[in-house]
Amino acid sequence: MKTWEKYIRRVEPYIPGEQPAGSDIIKLNTNENPYPPAPEVIRAGQELPMDRLSRYPDPEASILRKALAKHYGLSQEEIFVGVGSDDVLGMAFLTFFNSEKPILFPNITYSFYEVWAELFGIPYERPELTRDFHICTEDYKRENGGIVLANPNAPTSVFEPLLWIEEIVRANQDSVVIIDEAYIDFGGQSSRELLTRYDNLLVVQTFSKSRSLAGMRIGFGMGSRKLIKAMNDVKYSYNSYTMSQAALLMGEASVRADAYFQETTKRIMETREWLKAELRRLGFSFPDSMTNFLFITHEEIEAEKLFLWLKEQKIYVRYFRKPLLSEYLRVTIGAREDMEVFVAKVGEYMTSQKR
Ligand code: PMP
Repeated sequence: MKTWEKYIRRVEPYIPGEQPAGSDIIKLNTNENPYPPAPEVIRAGQELPMDRLSRYPDPEASILRKALAKHYGLSQEEIFVGVGSDDVLGMAFLTFFNSEKPILFPNITYSFYEVWAELFGIPYERPELTRDFHICTEDYKRENGGIVLANPNAPTSVFEPLLWIEEIVRANQDSVVIIDEAYIDFGGQSSRELLTRYDNLLVVQTFSKSRSLAGMRIGFGMGSRKLIKAMNDVKYSYNSYTMSQAALLMGEASVRADAYFQETTKRIMETREWLKAELRRLGFSFPDSMTNFLFITHEEIEAEKLFLWLKEQKIYVRYFRKPLLSEYLRVTIGAREDMEVFVAKVGEYMTSQKR
């Protein structure tokens, strides 16, 4: 081994879901939105001022932060924006989790938390979820260097009531508590309303799911001025221009397009409720999802086999070959027509297994 190789930072990377090419596939594996971005967003994209691209974008991302602040009744100083919520969360880990004490997150949750903790050398502990995938609030009342909870959680789809979240935030006023609300717009109640009472709370959301903008990479954090200032100081010490001109203008248009946002999220939730009934009929069980995906299991079917068979049929869902998760498939709620094909195919598979 060459000397320089010895000094390479070794990390076990996060593995994102597959992005297969081809137009005849049904893609239900990365919790994207089946609907296109709002017409306002498409127009903003078409009208992008190309002559501005020779200039750097606004490092303060004011147009987008102002729009978000107005929409959520906050001030611009209480908003941080980043390249997807992954960027916002990574920046928050780097900024706030700087103590010797372990940070806490559940044993089953978004796997990126462990990756960032390892990358940044942050000690961590992972309290176990209950058998029905809920947190025990008592587990989060021990000494810690910070807490991060996805609510609703991924890949379980379980939403925890705001009362529990508040209990944890209240009991941990010496740490920063991050609530990752990537899926909050599909029926959950945001912790944003706790912000007036707790300056140690950071609420993180994304444009990737409910706003159909996964490809544009926009996420944001909401928190006290002190938290946001600290995150900006770290951001400016790393990369000042994270948000492209396109992301700023299309993001702003997306915040304005509220009627479209309401309509498309409602349609996804309706399809989800329909899918729940169909899958129950086929004998599947799953936590009561408040997200744009279901976390399904079946007593008589091996999840991995069904996953592979569906892939042959060009239907992509997500399978995690990991302890505790290997009996489950995570299925994104796509357009109703696609979910009808999915249900029909799953039914076909089950019939073929019975023969
Ligand atoms: N948090 C959770 C719980 C997620 O599932 C995802 C999507 N992979 C993200 C954050 C990051 O999403 P994005 O970077 O697209 O905003």
